[in-house]
Amino acid sequence: MTTQSVKTQDLRLPHLPNGRMLIGGQWVEALGGERIKVLDPATERTIGSVARGQAADIDLAVRAADNALSNASWSKMSALDRERLLTRLANLIEENADELARIEALDNGKAVTIARNIDVVGAINTFRYFAGWPSKMSGLTLPVSSSSEDYHAYTIRQPIGVVGQIIPWNYPLVMAAWKLAPALASGCTVVLKPAEQTPYTALRLGELVQEAGFPPGVVNIVTGFGFEAGDALVHHPRVSKIAFTGSTSVGKHIAASAAKTLKRVSLELGGKSPTIILPDADLDVAIPTATQACFFNSGQLCFAGTRLFAPRNLFNRVLKGVSSAVTQMKVGPGLDVDTVLGPVVSEVQMERVLDKIDRGRNAGASIEVGGSRRGNVGYFVEPTIAVTTDVMNPLYREEVFGPVLAAIPYDDIDDLIRLANDTDYGLGANVFTRDISAAHTLARGIEAGTIWVNCALVADPALPFGGFKQSGYGRENSGVVLDHYTEIKTVCVKL
Ligand code: NAP
Ligand code: MG
Repeated sequence: MTTQSVKTQDLRLPHLPNGRMLIGGQWVEALGGERIKVLDPATERTIGSVARGQAADIDLAVRAADNALSNASWSKMSALDRERLLTRLANLIEENADELARIEALDNGKAVTIARNIDVVGAINTFRYFAGWPSKMSGLTLPVSSSSEDYHAYTIRQPIGVVGQIIPWNYPLVMAAWKLAPALASGCTVVLKPAEQTPYTALRLGELVQEAGFPPGVVNIVTGFGFEAGDALVHHPRVSKIAFTGSTSVGKHIAASAAKTLKRVSLELGGKSPTIILPDADLDVAIPTATQACFFNSGQLCFAGTRLFAPRNLFNRVLKGVSSAVTQMKVGPGLDVDTVLGPVVSEVQMERVLDKIDRGRNAGASIEVGGSRRGNVGYFVEPTIAVTTDVMNPLYREEVFGPVLAAIPYDDIDDLIRLANDTDYGLGANVFTRDISAAHTLARGIEAGTIWVNCALVADPALPFGGFKQSGYGRENSGVVLDHYTEIKTVCVKL
């Protein structure tokens, strides 16, 4: 991720959007009139409420998106004008960066300095990157291969239509950017459903979308629960594609529902990514980076390196190094400028994480550091390191999505690819070595969407990102994602 560092100066409580939804260019309450409370996970206090959008609201939003799709103000907009709008949006996010960071810190709990330098900067970069695409998207001219007659055959790319986008709570603003930017660059219109726990930066982004001048209905934002608003979006007949980031279980459910109408689906799901330290690795790089790879964002990271493999003869040194790095991370509320690890997002998530730690401990994992809740106000979980050699231990096998590392000693380098791949997931892997041949051999052998060598957490708009196996299908970012938001049409003309 980008390392440009800006000190967040303004730590006042941010002004929050009023919790109405953006449908067809208007800010509206849910038709049912209900609201959902939003909490600050550091204090457990209610900070506001947002509309509880349900099926009828989704229907209005999809109709608005459908109308906008065929409205000339969007469908006939020149590519350069679409680029200008995306750039304007990037500029507006930049102008409001401190405020967005404070909203994210309050709503999600993450450290405000990280929200400012990683999340907000990531969102800006994403819109800037995709702002460059509309004028470069094109088709191909192709020779017909099987005929001696003359044809002129070519392909054009057309926007896939109305896209439903469902995002999680761990990177609310970044996920909104990863979803919206390529869809808008492709000329689609969107109904976005943020996570129920963290709706505010998406709503603030909606205000900026309007300020940038996108035509009404191009971006619609419906807040609500997954089983209501999310489900209605997945089932709506006028939605051509669902882009989802979240849990593997909900991803499977969405894939099954979408199969009924053959809606296009892309899924970015969970992970249990390996971090592999080879015997020749530079431990001064490997130890702090492996620590970040697992504990960044309090471990609420789909590609977190949560299975740490270290050679048996270096294992104690690595374990000591990571333990010491972890205990130096300041745990605190997101809005505290010195915080490195905030709370986890909700009470439900805290209970899930603590339950997994208990199950791991009961199944024989040795908890070397942490292992409990910290304090009794706020959803703080101690950074936790478990050691286990049992590949069936829940902390080895299951995604935790909290600040929990499973460390595993290994004996045989030639067995590493098998160990790394012994998981249903395949999102990422981190490899630390100075041996280029070993690095590339592991990179080829590990079944994962991204292999980071001597680094971690580098997610960039220009690099494809996504999963093998049950980490999902489809790729986000880079030119590759545009294939998910466009249909390719072949035109074949007999001359
Ligand atoms: P989740 O249920 O998969 O939530 C992700 C998004 O999907 C939210 O917007 C959610 O709405 C929505 N959703 C839920 N059920 C739906 C349905 N039936 N149809 C359509 N949309 C639906 O994730 P979670 O419960 O918040 O977190 C559970 C686990 O998911 C975590 O422990 C972690 O393992 C994983 N997770 C992964 C990622 C990732 O980046 N890959 C991110 C977050 C969580 P609501 O807000 O109402 O739930
Ligand atoms: Mg919240």
